[in-house]
Amino acid sequence: MAFCLKALHNASKLEIQDLEALAGYRQATPQEEEAQIPKPELFSFLQLSPRNTPNTRPSLAQCATHLELLEVFFGLRLRILQSPELDTAFGIMQDHETVYRYDSAHPQRQPVQLADPNWDEKRRAKWPIFLSIAAARFDMWARNSNETVTETDARSRLQHLPPLDIVMVWHAFLLNPKSYQEYCSNLNLKKLQKLPFPWPDVHNAINSREWTFRYTLPPDASSFYRQTFNLEPDLFQSLVETSKLDPGSRIPQSLFRLAIKVAARLGTNARGTHPPLNTVELVDGSASGSTLSLLSLLRPIPCPFTITLANNVERQASFVDKMHRQLWIRSPFVSGTLSRAISRYEKFLSLFQLYPTTMFVPTLDIDLVWHTHQLSAEVYEKGAREVTGKFINHDDTITKTTLSDGMERTAGMWRVRFGEDYEGCFCWDCEGVKDVLGEEEEGGGEKDDDHWGNVGEDLIERVQKEVEYYRSVEVARRKGWERLPVRDSEG
Ligand SMILES: [Zn+2]
Repeated sequence: MAFCLKALHNASKLEIQDLEALAGYRQATPQEEEAQIPKPELFSFLQLSPRNTPNTRPSLAQCATHLELLEVFFGLRLRILQSPELDTAFGIMQDHETVYRYDSAHPQRQPVQLADPNWDEKRRAKWPIFLSIAAARFDMWARNSNETVTETDARSRLQHLPPLDIVMVWHAFLLNPKSYQEYCSNLNLKKLQKLPFPWPDVHNAINSREWTFRYTLPPDASSFYRQTFNLEPDLFQSLVETSKLDPGSRIPQSLFRLAIKVAARLGTNARGTHPPLNTVELVDGSASGSTLSLLSLLRPIPCPFTITLANNVERQASFVDKMHRQLWIRSPFVSGTLSRAISRYEKFLSLFQLYPTTMFVPTLDIDLVWHTHQLSAEVYEKGAREVTGKFINHDDTITKTTLSDGMERTAGMWRVRFGEDYEGCFCWDCEGVKDVLGEEEEGGGEKDDDHWGNVGEDLIERVQKEVEYYRSVEVARRKGWERLPVRDSEG
């Protein structure tokens, strides 16, 4: 198998570099239905009542929605980093040094403005500034939202889906189950602690037609947050609008200087506890009255958790990137990939029961399911206890060496325990091959050592055709085609 998979894998890499060659499909006419990727059926099980879903693992539809949400996060960070309006809003400016040089047309030296060599670096500060505002907004939201959770029979439900920046902070916080638990019990937020992650609402808020998935708050949630919590429903948008105000009322340099401080602390000292950074600090002595009112418009309130919360999101960013590179949510085989991931996760959890003192490191697919599970804090706590008899914390601050040692150990124990390879390639082609092999197996038939060698050429071709089509749809999406490619049904 190794050879065959590797060949496919490499072939697909070549293909993706040759984007033009992929445009061999025809654009859908306005009357024709476009291919929907991901397929709506993938999400049809989102509404199952909690009574019908086990605690011990998340559902396929939840994992799929999680993939959508991670794409939303990816797109948001990209928009923040690329936005010149946000540069303006945060008072991030180029320092133009002027030098005097001779040129052939003038007898005297002429002034030349040099580009700011630190410009790219400076612009990156937008992300930590955005995160620190988002973190403060999350804290404000959490303290007030506990009371908006309704509890009917077995179901508890959040009245209004939160704004995107708040979802992002909440998401990353939930992936540190122990500190989330502590936070909720310190502030007596019992309903929030019990709340299952609002997957159906999240899915409904996401438009997957664009290449970066877009998240739009329903109008009733928008007006609720604006009127009741005095929270802007779209932080990015409100900051962009800030940039259009006159310079005196923009968020000024003082905030930028603070961001440098925040940035310096972000990503560093990951294991230690962070000295509290209050948003009070955000408004340092030099802040003018108009800044104060702007900041209060955005509603950050003093919160000792700000840096920790922002740090959580920052650590998640690399997982978001990894998921974006795999792009399972646009794969023809997403359903198979996720079901395999879920059963591998169940095996993974069982390892904690078998070897209670060992630390296990998840592969990418297992990690996705693990995260999805953790996002419903109480379900996760109960489920993990059911399987392992104890609370399993998730620590994403472990150093690289410890991780790679742990990965080797996990792979070794996995092989012994389940007789399978632990790590592997999860690209579309490899996943497709796993899919067709799975079908074969279900169809019965003797398996022998030579099983992998029997992957028929027709099957490989089927996989390649699927991948090729899905990939060209994705390419068309990124090129901004008005109508996505369709394939004519083959005879
Ligand atoms: Zn592969």
